[in-house]
Amino acid sequence: MRVLKFGGSSLATRERIEGVLQIILRAERERGPVAVVVSAFGGVTDELIAISKMASQDNQEYKARLTGLQNRHIDVLRELVPALEQSAALVTLKMWFNDLEDVLHGVFLIGELSPRCLDYTMSFGELFSACIISHALKAKGADCDFLDSRELVRADETYGCAKVLFEETYKRIRDSFDTEKGLRVITGFIASTLGNETVTLGRGGSDYTASIFAAGLHAEEVEIWTDVDGLMTADPQKVPKAFSLRNLSY
Ligand code: ASP
Ligand code: MG
Repeated sequence: MRVLKFGGSSLATRERIEGVLQIILRAERERGPVAVVVSAFGGVTDELIAISKMASQDNQEYKARLTGLQNRHIDVLRELVPALEQSAALVTLKMWFNDLEDVLHGVFLIGELSPRCLDYTMSFGELFSACIISHALKAKGADCDFLDSRELVRADETYGCAKVLFEETYKRIRDSFDTEKGLRVITGFIASTLGNETVTLGRGGSDYTASIFAAGLHAEEVEIWTDVDGLMTADPQKVPKAFSLRNLSY
């Protein structure tokens, strides 16, 4: 078993997503079983945070932004999945958007956004992306299922940066993968508390989710796919002169 993780910028446009689908299908075909962990599509977590803050600050514009986010996801689904196979995913996406709308309406009325509530609103990005990617893989003939990592990854109540309860989590991961075969597309970044509250594992946490699944499954490898070539000397967004290293020892 290998765990492959794809981040938001690899999932920012339809073309990039198509590329990711090909990588996943080829990996399975050529090198055996994989589990896939995905982040939210590029920019979606930031947008969910912005929308949640707007709602809490009495700014009605949050509604239009939410509609924009919904349209973006439905458009991607329509582009990736043939019309006859879209309905199940559309129903799920619409249900989630309704839940999100209800919570944001509550935030708007009360004028307050608690860390717990923000974790809940942020969690939708990974639900949307994993749902769409799993349906797109299914449409390409893969025996594939969506997996909500909140069912398996248990953590404490440190909202925004929850600490994983490893013993419980590894047990759940192993049990789940023992009984269910086939390719799974797993939501990165999100987990749940023992009381079933949604929490997140810190920004950029999908890499961490991939590592947790890899460790729990004693995977041969975890592959963190990204869209820059190789390893750079620094974060190019912070250091414009950063360049790719030609060689690197362990
Ligand atoms: N979507 C989350 C974030 O933007 C997690 C991740 O991308 O790894 O922080
Ligand atoms: Mg990242």
